[in-house]
Amino acid sequence: MDDAFKIYVEQLRDGHVEKLEESFSSEFLDIHEKELSFKGPVAFQGEAYLANDDLVMRFSASCHCQLPCVICNKPVQQELKVENHYHNAPLAEVKSGIYHFREILREIILLEVPQFAECEGGCPERKEIAQYLKEPSSKDEEEEEGYQPFADLK
Ligand SMILES: [Zn+2]
Repeated sequence: MDDAFKIYVEQLRDGHVEKLEESFSSEFLDIHEKELSFKGPVAFQGEAYLANDDLVMRFSASCHCQLPCVICNKPVQQELKVENHYHNAPLAEVKSGIYHFREILREIILLEVPQFAECEGGCPERKEIAQYLKEPSSKDEEEEEGYQPFADLK
């Protein structure tokens, strides 16, 4: 499977643009956590080309992950999307002539994992614990009212 993560620099000479389109098994993300799991494939498409002394990749990717709802702890499916991400790799660092993008793709996708998930459309159990939660929006308003350094100038 590793072959699919390779770009051959020689094939990009003379302005050739290589189209990339793959469906990777999410196993390459190598996540073994209790709270976070990936199901199904990682759809990936983009292109690779040379620009000056760089190998440039432009790509989009999408997949689904599963996280526990922050309120009721039930599993929530989240779609992760990377859109038109640009990645430059200096050719001087691609000594073998083969660029492996598995790690960079993994990093970029994992950056999209949200810190919290909640049942779609709002957790049905939110009401029960609402008394313990402070709404972030109302807190902001309080702060705005409390801090008015130029109020005296009016
Ligand atoms: Zn929930």
